[in-house]
Amino acid sequence: MNKTLEVKNLYQQFNLSSNIFDKYKLKSGKIVREEKIVHAVNGINFEIEQGNVFSLVGESGCGKSTTARTIIKLLQPKKGQIIFDGQDITNLTGKEMLPIRRNMQMIFQDPFASLNPRYKIKNIVMEPILFHNPKLTVKEAEKEALELLEIVGIRPEQKNRYPHQFSGGQRQRIGVARALAVRPKLIIADEPVSALDVSIQAQILNLLMDLKDEFNLSYLFIAHDLSVVKHISDEIGVMYLGKIVEKAKKKDLFNNPKHPYTKLLLSSIPTINEDPLAEPVEIIGEIPSPINLPKGCYFNDRCAYAMDICREKEPIEKEIENKHFTSCHLY
Ligand code: SF4
Repeated sequence: MNKTLEVKNLYQQFNLSSNIFDKYKLKSGKIVREEKIVHAVNGINFEIEQGNVFSLVGESGCGKSTTARTIIKLLQPKKGQIIFDGQDITNLTGKEMLPIRRNMQMIFQDPFASLNPRYKIKNIVMEPILFHNPKLTVKEAEKEALELLEIVGIRPEQKNRYPHQFSGGQRQRIGVARALAVRPKLIIADEPVSALDVSIQAQILNLLMDLKDEFNLSYLFIAHDLSVVKHISDEIGVMYLGKIVEKAKKKDLFNNPKHPYTKLLLSSIPTINEDPLAEPVEIIGEIPSPINLPKGCYFNDRCAYAMDICREKEPIEKEIENKHFTSCHLY
């Protein structure tokens, strides 16, 4: 099967020491260089096969959204390689990325922030159509925009309304129509349902899945909750402090989780009249700062199974079963 996206050994960092006084400190009468670096993404690998949904899951601040922004090149990677549709886009300039971005669209958590409040919704969807198809007339672009709005469940008679006149779920539908307007191959959905009511979440997830087949899309889906991605994912990567600590097909991850952090996430999913999805896992300590990454396994401060080696040596990613990877000294 063709690969829509390959991410190899990707790193992203941010230097918080922006001026010379942040970079140099006086210590014991000597000037020493001391920069504060946020290690947001720390060598992650994954790929998305054409037509598949790969979900990245982890707590807030684990580097999921930074990964998404780096893949779409809103941020230049610190290290590693991004291959999109067979083309290495790692070092492409902003101008060189323009035709690529047509095929890679993003949907955001807060659709209101990503929709221009002064534009009617038909114009919001028409804008990318006209930008990428300058030969189309305004009338042709409007026809296409209205068709897309109808596909996502917005009626044509609502075309002249503004974003604030719609509910959160409807605004996310408009955001989806705008993303589809340029017929992308990959949609990066960054927490697209976390701001919505639970009943609306299911509608938007169902819509995204229906569109996947209709528009031949692949998805990189980002969420902080495994229960959200349970029904839509083909594969899942669990992120902790900028690393993917476990990666597997959905069925294997839910039925046979390996990494203690994955077990923790699964055991915290509420279930009604059912056993928890994993044995309860004891959680200790706080999430370490991405400025001072722990030595050894990044999870060692919080892991009930930590051994001496976990505090000394960083575990490397191993394939422990068919296409089931984890980074843990237990395996
Ligand atoms: Fe826990 Fe050690 Fe595995 Fe890290 S490597 S998850 S500390 S057992």
